[in-house]
Amino acid sequence: MSADESKPSRPAHEAADADEPERLGSLRRCVNGDDTLRIVTVECAEPLRELCERCEIDGLEAVVLGRAMVAGYLMATVAKNEHERMRVQLRGEGPVGTVIVDTHGDGRGRAALQARLPEALARRPVEAGRVSIGPFVGESGFLTVTRDLGLARPYQGTVELVSGELDEDLEAYLSESEQLPSTLRCVVQIEPDGSVVGAAGVLVQTFPGSDPAEVDAARERLRDGRLEALDLRRVTHAELAHAAVGETGYRVVHEHSLRFDCPCGPENARRVVSTLGAEDLEALAREQETTEVRCNFCGRVTVLDASDLRDVASQIRAANPNVASAESSS
Ligand SMILES: [Zn+2]
Repeated sequence: MSADESKPSRPAHEAADADEPERLGSLRRCVNGDDTLRIVTVECAEPLRELCERCEIDGLEAVVLGRAMVAGYLMATVAKNEHERMRVQLRGEGPVGTVIVDTHGDGRGRAALQARLPEALARRPVEAGRVSIGPFVGESGFLTVTRDLGLARPYQGTVELVSGELDEDLEAYLSESEQLPSTLRCVVQIEPDGSVVGAAGVLVQTFPGSDPAEVDAARERLRDGRLEALDLRRVTHAELAHAAVGETGYRVVHEHSLRFDCPCGPENARRVVSTLGAEDLEALAREQETTEVRCNFCGRVTVLDASDLRDVASQIRAANPNVASAESSS
């Protein structure tokens, strides 16, 4: 539970009206002419803007979250089917703490930072081109990818961070843990005032049995700054693919939309406060009539009343009868 989650906070951001247009990004999957490479491109400025507006985030933090969102959407295409959920967790030693991104094969996604940067750091001017986020995420630590296929046990893989730049760390994960020669690159551009200009990225992988050197060529092109040189205000999937594979011919296999989505609600809020423990929850219930829990992913505030807190406390005691008797005798 982060520091701000049980404090009174700003009014809840209500869910978008049903008649409000959805704020969509898009993802395109392609295969090259020889069937040796898969090329996936993502453009998700609108889902990132929605996330930033809901959580009142901009500047450097928007760059970190944007890179996480783009990478998460790209990673979801490694899934076997659209029902698969993927969670990427970067546990670095930097000031933002753990970075989490959840994506689904059907295009839904959300991302959060465990901690916020000090205002002066978050609002400092961001340089043009590739912004180094390693110092804020942490250049050492671990990256864990959890793939939930709805089976009894989700598949999980962990690697050490290589740079804390997020895309480079995921690229290493794909090559090491999933044995898929890959290159993955994300770009986020922001205005001088800290608002989001655009967010996009490319993933290139070989098919099993193909020559990994083809991915190396794409990696070199992407590290040359071709992606950062694009104007993300009006970028197309063709431009993104061109940045990675140049004039290589390819065909579009599939395209779908991307959206920001956070399925949080009262159950999530109860889970968050349960980490306080029964005794503290009962104390809180005596002190205040309502407790607000703010979701780190979407900024939504759920209000729990004193009876909700007592209810969670009694569930905790029921699950730990020994602890309950020790506490009641004290
Ligand atoms: Zn939420």
